[in-house]
Amino acid sequence: MSVYSGQFSGRLTIDLGAIARNWKGLDRISAKSLTGAVVKADAYGCGMLPVASALARAGAQFFFVATPDEGLALRTLLPDAYIFIFNGLFPGAAKLYAEQRLMPVLSSLSMLDEWLSISLDIGDALPAGFHFDTGMNRMGFRLQEASIVRSRMDNSGYQPQMIMSHMACADTPTHEKNATQRALFQSLLTQFPDIPASLANSAATLSGRENHFQMVRPGISLYGGRAVQGRPNPMSPVITLEMPILQIREARAGESVGYGATQSLSRDSRLAIVGIGYADGYLRSLSSTEGASGGFVAINGNVVPVVGRVSMDTIVVDITELGINAPGAGEMVEIIGPNISVDDLGEAGSTIAYEILTSLKGRYQRFYRDEMGNLVEG
Ligand SMILES: *Cc1c(COP(=O)(O)O)cnc(C)c1O
Repeated sequence: MSVYSGQFSGRLTIDLGAIARNWKGLDRISAKSLTGAVVKADAYGCGMLPVASALARAGAQFFFVATPDEGLALRTLLPDAYIFIFNGLFPGAAKLYAEQRLMPVLSSLSMLDEWLSISLDIGDALPAGFHFDTGMNRMGFRLQEASIVRSRMDNSGYQPQMIMSHMACADTPTHEKNATQRALFQSLLTQFPDIPASLANSAATLSGRENHFQMVRPGISLYGGRAVQGRPNPMSPVITLEMPILQIREARAGESVGYGATQSLSRDSRLAIVGIGYADGYLRSLSSTEGASGGFVAINGNVVPVVGRVSMDTIVVDITELGINAPGAGEMVEIIGPNISVDDLGEAGSTIAYEILTSLKGRYQRFYRDEMGNLVEG
């Protein structure tokens, strides 16, 4: 908590040392398996390039992004990294992938055929992953297509770098679907012996060795978010977000606050108007009404609630309880930090840390704390 120092906006601080520690922790947990790093969606809002540099310094060599554009940006930073593109091969993009050594995660026969034919043209077996769907109906070959995929491999002599699948319910380790998907994956692998296999996201990595196979693919855990529901989150927090108070106002019992007049005050109240809104990633689902509480912020370590709806640029918080410790205009309040985790905020907004993090594209200065503890503007 610090006094407003002349900038007109808030501060988002991303702790690259914490990200590196989280990766190393997962690498220990995954033991003999390789530990990849998922840096899609701008590294879950944390900034792909600084995050990927820190991960590479920590020892990561295998990176996963969603789109070829993300892959191209990462390639300029890391000339030697292995880069997989989860969303697969975009029609017509095969040459670009080949030039930049991006590895599509192939998930349909048409993608596979396009990739094999470009490999044939180039006269080189271009590396790729294969994704099989074991129960999500999202991306992936159907299991029934395994023998076709296998025969395409046998006919062309092609071998993928990795066979993967993705779990629908890994955040709930007791869910029966986990064992079902794992069994389907294991039986699929009997048709693809000797090809490295990968099943685990963060939750599956944390919840059991039986999910690890040859490579794990954590995302959210790197960024400090909770992967497994209903268990303490073992990861180091990564994000601090502080925003300034714009105004303090006194309001009377019975008056309403904000758009829609969804909340009326039950007592005379002191309110702080804070300069963050849904345009800054403070989700509108963090609004509060008379029936249901919403988000909260921390002021000098005291957690105080949002009152009324979240606006585009502002929220209103009730600081009546702070009494003489009430802050003044210009002071910073903690939106995310030591007192409020991304998980807490996600829960308060009926969502998950993933959405909180990837929504952080707001009007604030960004700082990175490097592994040595130095703070640099990013
Ligand atoms: C995003 C993603 C991951 C990482 O998931 P987390 O839950 O963030 O660890 C892993 N695998 C696939 C296929 C993904 O799309």
